[in-house]
This record gives sequence, C-alpha cells and structure tokens, in this order.
Amino acid sequence: MHNHDRMKSFHAAPIRASAVLALALSSTLVAAQTKISAPNNNYTPAQDVELGLQAAAEVRQQLPVMRDDEVTSYVEDIGRRLVAVIPPEFQHPEFRYTFDVVNVREINAFALPGGPMFVNRGMIQAAQTEGEVAGVMAHELSHVLLRHGTAQASKATKYEIGQIAGAVLGSIIGGGWGQVVAQGTQFGLGTAFLRFGREYEQQADLEGAHLMAAAGYDPRDMANMFKTIEKQSGSGGPQWLSDHPNPGNRQAYITKEAETLRVANAVRDTRGFQQVQSHLARLAPAPTTEQATRNARRGGGGGPTGTSGRTRRETGLPSGRVEPPSGSFRSYNVGNIFRVSVPSNWQQLEDGNTVTFAPEGAYGEYNGQSVFTHGLQVGVERNETHNLQTATDELIDSLARGNPNLSRPSGYQRARVGGQDGLRTILSNTSEATGQRENIELFTTQLRDGNLFYAVGVAPRDAFSSYQGLFDRIVGSIQLRNY
Ligand SMILES: [Zn+2]
Repeated sequence: MHNHDRMKSFHAAPIRASAVLALALSSTLVAAQTKISAPNNNYTPAQDVELGLQAAAEVRQQLPVMRDDEVTSYVEDIGRRLVAVIPPEFQHPEFRYTFDVVNVREINAFALPGGPMFVNRGMIQAAQTEGEVAGVMAHELSHVLLRHGTAQASKATKYEIGQIAGAVLGSIIGGGWGQVVAQGTQFGLGTAFLRFGREYEQQADLEGAHLMAAAGYDPRDMANMFKTIEKQSGSGGPQWLSDHPNPGNRQAYITKEAETLRVANAVRDTRGFQQVQSHLARLAPAPTTEQATRNARRGGGGGPTGTSGRTRRETGLPSGRVEPPSGSFRSYNVGNIFRVSVPSNWQQLEDGNTVTFAPEGAYGEYNGQSVFTHGLQVGVERNETHNLQTATDELIDSLARGNPNLSRPSGYQRARVGGQDGLRTILSNTSEATGQRENIELFTTQLRDGNLFYAVGVAPRDAFSSYQGLFDRIVGSIQLRNY
C-alpha cells in the first residue's frame, strides 16, 4: 500500500522532533483558537478510570493485542508526545494513558474512559504519514480528556455502570459476536463510551488539533486521515465513522482551526513511521475484527459432543507437506447427522459446527483461525429462507467474510447431496494463510428444517483436477440421518 511514495522520501524524512522542539513550537501558537470546555458529567474521574480498566481488560481478552515491541513502542511514543502537552484544565492525575495496537485490519481506533487507547494495525497501515496516525490518536485522546464517554453515560443514569462497561465490546465489534456480548444490555446502550454525537465530535476534533499543534504536528494531517477513512468503504472505515460521525464540514473547520495554530516545520513523515510501515508490511496480513473475535470465542469452548473426532490443537500454518489421498476409505459417523467415507489417511477435525477431513500437513492455524489447504469440510448453516439457492448464496457470503478473496459463483449445477437434490458450484480463492490460489467445490442441500447442509472441498488450483473426482465421491458417500 503506497510503499513507493514512502520509500522515495525515506532519506529525506526528518527524524522525530525532540521534546525541546515540541516546546518551542507550542510557544508559536497564536491567539483565537476555539475555547473547549468539557460537558457536564455525573461520574468522578476515578470512576472513568475504573470503567475504562474494566472495559480494557475485556478488550485485551477478546481482541489480538500486538506484543510486537517495534510497533507498540512507536505508537506509545506518539501517545506520550500528545499526553505531554495536555493543557492544565484537562489534566486528570488519576488517568493512566496506555496505548495498544490491535492486530486487526479495519481502519479504526478507540479510547476508553480514564485513558486506555487501542489503535488498529489497519489504521497505521492506511496512514500516509506519522502526522495522520497522531491525528486519529489526538482525536481519541481528546474524547478521554473531555470525558465524553462518561458524559454520555451520564445521560443514561437508569442503567447500571456494569452494564455499560460490559457492552463496550459489542460496540467495538458490532454484528455477530457483539450482539452476544451486548445481550445483557438494552437499546444498544453499550455504545455509550464509544459512539458520540456531533457536538462531542467537533470538540474532539478541535481539542485534537490543539494537542497536535502543541506536540509539533500539523493538525491538517488529522483532517487528511479522516478523508482517507471516509474514502474507505467496506474495509473498516465505516466503523470509525459510525462511532465518530462527521459533524459536517469537518475538513473545513479543522483547517480553519489549524490556521490559528500555525506550526512551523511540523512533523509529518518520520523515519520511525517508515520503519513501522515496512515492518507491518512484512507481517502476515491482519485478520478482520470478526475473524479475530470469532476465534477468541472458540478458544473458550470445547468441541461439540457426541462425535468421535478430536478438536483441533495444531497451531501454525499448514506445513504444506501433504501426502496424496489414500486409495482406501474409512467411514465416520458425525454426530447423529450423517455418515461419510473419506480417504483413510485423512484426519477428522472438529471445529465448532463444522467437521473437516484433511490430510496431515494440510491443516493448521492462521491468525487464530483454523485453515486447511486440502480436504473437505462439512457443516450445517442455520437458514430460514427455505430456498436452496438463496440459502446457498447466503452461505457463500458468510464464507467470504473469512475469505475476502473468494469469487462468486457464475451459476449452480444440480447435484445429489446426501441422497437429496442439491446444488454444486466451483469457486476460486486465494488463501490468506498461504497466499496460494485454490479452488473450492461447494455442495449444498436443504435439511427438512430449512437449515443448509453443505460440503466444501478445497485444493490448490494446480492440483484441483486430481481432487475434484475425490470430492464428488466423498459427497456421494454422505448419508444424512433422520432427515
Ligand atoms: Zn470522535
């Protein structure tokens, strides 16, 4: 992502300004900056700290916080620079400012009452300059300083504090798992700490601009980053925007405020930024938040009962050393649901509501997710449409959430699946884990209760022709029970 531009300016990039320089810059501030005052708040700063710590502990449990010193110390340095210039009226001695990087790809960041801040790796990778990273962080930090989270919660006094804290994650993650977390709360109140109205947004923008200028950054970089976020659709931009709605004319008023805060030789691009960017580019791509949390959820629970398979324990990528399928077959009864015959050198692996048959070396874990490069997975997906093709379309959509490179079907063929009428189609994908192109043969049929029974055969594209007949044979062996 945009590496060419960055590399060009590698040698020319200024080294991060020293604290002395930052002080010198803050003294060049001119008058007429907007005066910001924190909104009414029924909570004490100590309660901010307590609520924020509770929520942060949950976040650390459920989201993959990076323990990569090069990345975290870089973000911490920016955070410290901003904290060092907090104006006296917004200093809260109780607050503890921490800065973590979450290894997920959405362009997002959030800060909790009392100081914990989480910056997504996707945000750092989408930024063009250090100033842009600092801009988002200055905005988030301003919400903390102005105590917007608890100010907002003050408006909802009939709810218990614990309920609000417990629902923070629901608001971060949204959708599927978030709904589970948020079940204890009503009316989406969990958004209290993170989702702000226009008035608070504008305050955070303006105070953020002040902090940036005081720390030696150009506040217009904040506006630039917001523009980048707004341009992103579908890959995580919207989450930040739904938590931090544009009050209108955001770019314009930030630019105007920046004019009152003239910063000479502002820090924009730095060597530290270049290094972190190229470091991140060398790591395996970050998963989506949904992928990451789905796995965290799995980690806690055991496998399904009533089957004889083992739960996956393998960690690390598939080794890639895969034996060809044995010519002899072995039959498995899976739960009370179906019977199937697979090559005798394939393992049965259970994972949540699916069972995968795959040879040694073809399965493993990537970014906390189970992956397989050769084999066949069988599962049942809840569906209420009572239409096989619609249900199959929906299944493919849900597979695509974990496999962003998955193609869409050009059409379906009729097939027999489990002795019933079904559909069959071939899709292509590029594995996120191995970077390899693979083909996927999908079979579906509808169970009597309307749910969708499916089998997904996966093989590398160049080996697919030798696996396709095998997938057909395995699926042909499936006997559905009680259906
Ligand atoms: Zn905001």
